[in-house]
Amino acid sequence: MGATPDTGFIRRAIELADLNAVRVALYQQTKDPELKELPMALAMDEDQKELLVSKAVAWLEHNATPDVLLDEPPEDELRELCNLATKEEMDDLDFNARRELPAFNDFPWFTRWSGEKPEIPEGFRAVVIGSGFSGIAMGVQLELLGIPYTVIERRPEPGGTWTINRYPDIRVDTISITYEYNFEKNYPWSEYFGKGPEVRGYLDHIATKYGVKANTRYSHDLKSATWDDERDLWVLVVDTPEGAVEMEANVIVNAVGKFANPNVVEFPGRENFDGTIIHPSRWPEGYDLKGKRVAIIGNGSTGVQMLKPIAEDAEQVFVFQRTPQWISPRPKYGDPIEPEVRWLLDNFPGFWHWWRYMAIAALFQTHKMLIPDPEWKGEGGHFNQMNDALRDTLTAYIHDQVDGDQELIDKLMPDYAPFSRRPVVDNGWYKALTRDNVELVTDPISEFVSSGIETEDGTLYQVDTIVTATGFQVAKYLWPAKYVGDNGVNVHDFWSKDGPRAYLGMMVPHYPNMFMLYGPNSQPLSGGTGLPAWYVVWASYAAQLVVRMLEDGKSRVDVKEEAYERYNEALDKEAAQLLLLQDEGAPDKNYYVNTDVGQPRLQTSAPWYGPEFHRMCTEVDWDDIDVS
Ligand code: NAP
Repeated sequence: MGATPDTGFIRRAIELADLNAVRVALYQQTKDPELKELPMALAMDEDQKELLVSKAVAWLEHNATPDVLLDEPPEDELRELCNLATKEEMDDLDFNARRELPAFNDFPWFTRWSGEKPEIPEGFRAVVIGSGFSGIAMGVQLELLGIPYTVIERRPEPGGTWTINRYPDIRVDTISITYEYNFEKNYPWSEYFGKGPEVRGYLDHIATKYGVKANTRYSHDLKSATWDDERDLWVLVVDTPEGAVEMEANVIVNAVGKFANPNVVEFPGRENFDGTIIHPSRWPEGYDLKGKRVAIIGNGSTGVQMLKPIAEDAEQVFVFQRTPQWISPRPKYGDPIEPEVRWLLDNFPGFWHWWRYMAIAALFQTHKMLIPDPEWKGEGGHFNQMNDALRDTLTAYIHDQVDGDQELIDKLMPDYAPFSRRPVVDNGWYKALTRDNVELVTDPISEFVSSGIETEDGTLYQVDTIVTATGFQVAKYLWPAKYVGDNGVNVHDFWSKDGPRAYLGMMVPHYPNMFMLYGPNSQPLSGGTGLPAWYVVWASYAAQLVVRMLEDGKSRVDVKEEAYERYNEALDKEAAQLLLLQDEGAPDKNYYVNTDVGQPRLQTSAPWYGPEFHRMCTEVDWDDIDVS
């Protein structure tokens, strides 16, 4: 154990830290009543801040220890701490969804055998398809149960979307401590928002440490899965470097992600362009932008994330924007974790737990952004008070970032409400637009020509590289592989009426013993608990059903058709009330909403309040399930 640093260092550490996390972690250690009375950090006056900082410094001078990860406190104490963190009294629904967020337990939610492990039938095997975040979580779950499994992964390494996307400055846009699994915490991230290679490193580390890698076959690409109704198993055809092979699986778990298929737009004249066209998910390794003239089409999370580094290298960049976005600032985005804060993480017991909790807990409020307030609108408001307040903040941010340049402001101002679409994080995008070598183009693209892009007003933008940051075909879940169920129907045909659907985002009737993690309508729109926590919840749900099947000596588990229909009806009804499907939410401009199916419908996300969906996914409703 190293020597305790001097007082100045510790003070700087506390001053740099999330003061709410400091407040709760210190209270957990000391039960000091003065700490309990302190308000949330944003509401503290200078005296209150100083009280907290000086108490924390004094305590750490004598009590810093590398034993920073704590066991879960008793339930009433945990409840008190959670309530104290956000200064609210939680009901059971919220508390149950949040209690594992500080991650005191390594394997919460994970499914265990109800008693002695039953004998697993000879040859029984689960096959997990995909080795990204969710596939690895499923592997860890199966390891814990001791159920034989194989992960097949089409790429040569673990990491899923994080190995595929390697464009400039790719990184997480939610803080990295929320992007960790409970079972592998306090990872030594070098930046607050980890870059792609570090996220890949984290996943590789887990896959190795928890035994998943040893059970993974890389460069294995699933082509088809066909249910054998006689034998209650799936027959898979998999492309491998040695050619196509057949595999059998009693259970399949699809962990193939939502962003597997790039949206490659067939712009007219595409084939006439003499330069290089790149979709960000196919970024050529080592591609040198120095001195190049570049077009970036798209201002979603990807296009926005990459502009600044590209503009710093390229000679000229044209940004083609079809629809303005609400783009939010993110404190510490792109910043390294200071040595002082790293020291706190490694020497202040409980600080990591409560920092993580605070970073996620704020998201629970966001559901309120999505509920319309007719009275507020009647009085001239746009949507509701909270959403309008955010609109004002983001509007002011745009003005500030572009130094009041009215021409730019007019082009950049969305005419729909924030939170209609997936929030985009500013990686210096607005500022980059004010550079001399960057131009924002809002006139629609008419065609690609040999030397660049022509817009409808007849202007030619001469470029030698076109980056099409045009997103992904999110409605193509599980695609292009074929999945033929007990009805003899390919799942893509089963879904042909209005796109992919599932029960709880995980199960489809007639496709027995098949689960999807991050499936259709699965990621909660708001009030989430951080994606890694959801991957575990979904993996655990699948495992609960498999465990029941094995414990009962059965071989088949399916969702009832009636339950699937009822669930989806309720889901559509719930979604219809939310911002995304109302005029103010611009449903026609949102990949969360499918407008190609007659009545627009929410297709990617779960509309439920996060804790409610958490309850649905953690308490199996056995009346909806057939085990036979
Ligand atoms: P996206 O959000 O779907 O954005 C696609 C962009 O391309 C939009 O600006 C869209 O314009 C534009 N576009 C599409 N077709 C076009 C056309 N024919 N002509 C002109 N413009 C066109 O895709 P994305 O930016 O790749 O992001 C997808 C998701 O990936 C994100 O929402 C996020 O969930 C995830 N992501 C996460 C991170 C992170 O965490 N760090 C980073 C990147 C991506 P319209 O707005 O007019 O449709």
